[in-house]
Amino acid sequence: MKKSVNAFCAFHLTEHKELIDGCGRPRGVAPIPLSRGIDMLMDTWSGLDMGLDIDAETTSKFWKRLWKLPMLSRYKVFLWRACWGIIPTVETLDRRDMEINEVCPMCNYDSESIFHALIDCTEIQIMWVMANFDYSSRMYHANVLEWMAVEAGSWRDEQLCKAAVAMYCVWERRNAKKFSNELIRAENLWPKVERIMEEYQAANLTDLNNATVLPALEWKKPVYPYVKLNVDASVRREGGGYLGGLVRDTSGCCLGAFMSHTQAPDDAALLEAMALRKGLEMALKIGCTHVWVEVDASLVTDMLKTPCAHASALNAICRDILNFSENFQHVSFNWIPIICNNVADFITRKVRPDS
Ligand SMILES: [Zn+2]
Repeated sequence: MKKSVNAFCAFHLTEHKELIDGCGRPRGVAPIPLSRGIDMLMDTWSGLDMGLDIDAETTSKFWKRLWKLPMLSRYKVFLWRACWGIIPTVETLDRRDMEINEVCPMCNYDSESIFHALIDCTEIQIMWVMANFDYSSRMYHANVLEWMAVEAGSWRDEQLCKAAVAMYCVWERRNAKKFSNELIRAENLWPKVERIMEEYQAANLTDLNNATVLPALEWKKPVYPYVKLNVDASVRREGGGYLGGLVRDTSGCCLGAFMSHTQAPDDAALLEAMALRKGLEMALKIGCTHVWVEVDASLVTDMLKTPCAHASALNAICRDILNFSENFQHVSFNWIPIICNNVADFITRKVRPDS
């Protein structure tokens, strides 16, 4: 039994301050490696019959869903542990022969099982009542996994997430009382659950907005060790087109520029790709090693970033560009709005005989 207590303590090492000493070691037991602890714990579990009235398929469906829930992993892990019965309540510690003759520290009446501590304690019923979902099915169960596997199947993700966060907050409150003698009002629990979920959703929305935000609408100096190559092209009325571009360093100084024209082709994307190829030739000639390329033709950058075997003139030029890029230590291809490419655009227009 000492073995399972060791494993139990090691497993909780990072999450439960009450079980670890000032040096981060489990209290009262010799430190053992975490991986060995988990192995030992698994051994203990394999002989453990949870005696629940649920079939394996329902349970496995619940586990799969749990890890995909839209909430922070700390709440998923906590729910997972609550389901497995590995929360160090008075009763679970007692079952592991750690002699503790105590009742639930919140109601000071019932024996503190995991289901009692997180769900059934009279002290926290107000939280379930204040909830904006119906959690009354908890009364028909006596085990966290059973409640989840049997009832949560008909809940929306939001309801399940909130139940997990609620149990987490209840456990935090219980520990604050037990270890710091600090009493958090049960009426504050549900508003806290709401706030945690709102913050999570707001953070995710911000991420989404940031992902779709456009690049800044001005040209930016490259960051060391890169030089920046801007290229552009325009179609010529009589066929073919004009190409132009320049390389600038981290202080914005021009290291080289080129302008040229071609009799064919007269396709804008092809001309842009040809300008890019010419720009890279110039960059190599002036000794650049890290090149940050910017063009305002997204078709070209898309093709360079996801090369395919499709037979087309544009693909052929892009493959040639990728091969030529091997001459540098690193080349990065980036699309920018036309407004950020105005110097390259200006050079290209200067090639026109009428300018
Ligand atoms: Zn209680």
